[in-house]
Amino acid sequence: MTAHDPSLTRSGGGLLGWLGLGARRIEDEQGPAPPQRDRREAPRHRQLEEIGSFLSYHQLEVSANTLTIAWNYLSGADPQLARLIDRQMQARKPVTLEWLDEVLARPGETDEIEMLTRLMARLETSIDEFGKTSRDAHKATSEYHSALEEHVTELEQVTRAGEVISELASIARVMLKRTRGIEQQMLRSEAQTRALKRRLDEARRSAEEDHLTGLPNRRAFEARFTAEFRDARAAAEALSVAFCDIDHFKKVNDTHGHDAGDRVLKVVAECLARISGDRCHVARHGGEEFVLLFRDCTAEQALEKLDLLREQLAERRLVNRATDVPFGQITFSGGIADVFACGDPRSALKAADAALYRAKQEGRNRILIAGPNETKPAALAA
Ligand code: GH3
Ligand code: MG
Ligand code: MG
Repeated sequence: MTAHDPSLTRSGGGLLGWLGLGARRIEDEQGPAPPQRDRREAPRHRQLEEIGSFLSYHQLEVSANTLTIAWNYLSGADPQLARLIDRQMQARKPVTLEWLDEVLARPGETDEIEMLTRLMARLETSIDEFGKTSRDAHKATSEYHSALEEHVTELEQVTRAGEVISELASIARVMLKRTRGIEQQMLRSEAQTRALKRRLDEARRSAEEDHLTGLPNRRAFEARFTAEFRDARAAAEALSVAFCDIDHFKKVNDTHGHDAGDRVLKVVAECLARISGDRCHVARHGGEEFVLLFRDCTAEQALEKLDLLREQLAERRLVNRATDVPFGQITFSGGIADVFACGDPRSALKAADAALYRAKQEGRNRILIAGPNETKPAALAA
C-alpha cells in the first residue's frame, strides 16, 4: 500500500489521511511544496502529519523503514541522511526507495568528508597538546635555569658554599625528574602526532580517490582544476578541459550485469589514464563520465590527444570474461572547451558538457570542441 497523493500537502493529509484521520485536499497550482526539516518542537500530531506528507510527497510506501527514514530526516536526528535528502531534493531528483537503499548502504563521500574532518580536529587537538607540552617544558627549564642562576650568583658571593651546593643539588634532582617526565610526555605526543598525520594522509588520499577506477574523484579534480587554472593564468599558458561519457553504457549494464559494467568502466578509465601526467589530469567525474584537464594545450591539441585514445578504445574488442560474451564495441564521446575562452573552470565544464551533448546527438563515438555559442557567457548562463 502506498501513501501516494501529491496533492496532499504538508499541512493536509499524508499519514493522517492514510490513517483515515481527516485528510484535506488543497489546490495549489504550483504543486505541493516538498516537506522540509523543521527542528522546532512540534506537537505529536503535527510530526505525524509531516511524516505522512514526506512519504506521500516522495511516493514512498509506508513501512517501518520509511517511517524511520522520514522521522530521522524531519527531526534532523540523522544529519547525514538529512543532508543527502536535501541535496537530492535541491537537484530536483526523486527520493525513491532504491536511491535511499543505495545511499544508506554505501559509505558515501559524506562519510569520508566527516571522517576527514574528525581526523583533522583530532590532529589539531594533538598538535595543541604537543605545543602545550613544549611550553610546559620550556617553562620548567627556564624556572630551572633561573633557580640555578640565582644559586650560582649566591655561590660566588656566599662563603657558606657547602650549604648552597647541597640545596642546588636537590633542586637539580627535582628538576631533572620533572624534565624527564616532560620529555616522555613530549615523546608520546610526537608519536601520537605522527600516527595521526599518517592516518590523515591515508584518509585524505582515500577521500580523493574513486575506489572503482583508482582515478582521482570529482572533488579532487575540482581542487586540481582551481589550482591549474590559477597557475596557467599566471604563466599565460593555454588550458583545456574535456568531458567524456561512455556511449550506451546502460545497455552494457542491462545486457551483461552491473559487475561487468564495472569492469568496462575500469577499462575505459585505464585507457584515459594513459595520457595522465604532470600536464594532463584525468578523473572520474561520476557514473560513466570522466574529465580531463590539459595544461599548456589548446582545445585543438587536446582534441588530437583525446581522439587517439577514443580510436584505440573503439578498435578493441572486449569480451565479458565471466560469460565469454563479447561486449561489442565500447566507445565514448567527448566535448572539449578552451577554459580561458569560457572565463572560469565552472563555465568551461559547462561548455565542454554542451559540446559532449552535441557529440552524442551527432552519433556518438566522437569528440567535439565547444563552439562560440557554447562558450559564450550568455549560452552558459542558460
Ligand atoms: P549515452 O550514450 O547517451 O550516454 O547513454 P548511456 O546509456 O551511457 O547513458 P545513461 O545516462 O542513460 O546511462 C548511464 C548508466 O551508467 C546508468 C547507470 O546505471 C550506469 N552507471 C553509473 N555509474 C555506474 C557504475 O559505477 N557502475 C556501473 N556498472 N554502472 C554505472
Ligand atoms: Mg552519462
Ligand atoms: Mg553514457
